[in-house]
Amino acid sequence: ALILGLESSCDETAAALVTSDRRILAHRLAGQEAAHRPYGGVVPEIAARAHVEALMPLIEGALGDAGVSLAEVDAIAATAGPGLIGGVMVGLVTGKALAHAAGKPLVAVNHLEGHALSPRLTDPDLDFPYLLLLVSGGHCQLLLVEGVGAYRRLATTIDDAAGEAFDKTAKLLGLGFPGGPAVERAALAGNPNAVPLPRPLKGSAEPHFSFAGLKSAVSRARDAGTWRAEDIAASFQAAVVDCLLDRTIRALDRAQGATALVVAGGVAANQAVRLALEGLATANGLRFVAPPLWLCTDNAAMIAWAGAERFAAGFTDPLDIAARPRWPLDPDAEAVRGAGV
Ligand code: ATP
Ligand code: MG
Ligand code: FE
Repeated sequence: ALILGLESSCDETAAALVTSDRRILAHRLAGQEAAHRPYGGVVPEIAARAHVEALMPLIEGALGDAGVSLAEVDAIAATAGPGLIGGVMVGLVTGKALAHAAGKPLVAVNHLEGHALSPRLTDPDLDFPYLLLLVSGGHCQLLLVEGVGAYRRLATTIDDAAGEAFDKTAKLLGLGFPGGPAVERAALAGNPNAVPLPRPLKGSAEPHFSFAGLKSAVSRARDAGTWRAEDIAASFQAAVVDCLLDRTIRALDRAQGATALVVAGGVAANQAVRLALEGLATANGLRFVAPPLWLCTDNAAMIAWAGAERFAAGFTDPLDIAARPRWPLDPDAEAVRGAGV
């Protein structure tokens, strides 16, 4: 099957054409960094307007790149949440309109499912179940991925997401926006052992995450005026990697049947994160799978692919389906904010 995927949940507008046998026929993406940079973060209203302007030309460009017409597409997959509601609505309504006009089925995709299944697009040997560390701008979770639409959350963050911590650290250190790549670049020129920083929740029984205390410690380290930004960045990144590793180790014995350790989401583009997890996987006799860097940060190929997986499983959605600003992957997971950790 040939799937058109649309993504517009945050500050990337994207369209892609992917087949169910893993061929990426086209993927186009328009970032909005320049529009948001003056504000040091994503401004929802600016994002929504930018999606409106960018989306149709990206879709037409992707169809042109692939050399196909809308009539040849088998289904249209659009992110329906979670994310900034104005942006999600732009992509979802566009997907609905195209589906209606062309008489094609609509597949409403959870953006997190896009991240969660993205490693299977480029690795045909990645089978269910696998242990997934989903680390992005808005989420930090450990999930047992048991199948398409079957996600068991083993852990989540009790405060900030990992990507959010990178972004806040970049802002505190004046490294620019977006923060993750900026911190990683600065860290290359710094000493990871220079600044003593905490490892929140390290060693605790439940595999949950916490990054708010780390961000505060970075703020104090900066105010102390003792260290170079590069040393703080390197020490911060080392602390994050340390926490991700410790929490993932804790989740390993709850990941029954998993033969692979997988990382996905924007923070999975970080080389230090990838290296540490690869070492952990190897030490535990697990395969390590991480998508190529471009597939880690937001894109539409992962939405088209999740759409292809859902379409193959028989899931399509009615045209009156609503956009959802919040949409947990595991609806049975309990809230953990501050509880018992
Ligand atoms: P979510 O997927 O939770 O809705 P999002 O879509 O905004 O959030 P992604 O696009 O998946 O998030 O990831 C963006 C995040 O990844 C940002 O917080 C960014 O700083 C972080 N990030 C991107 N590249 C890197 C990197 N090389 N190192 C660390 N963090 C990175
Ligand atoms: Mg982004
Ligand atoms: Fe994302």
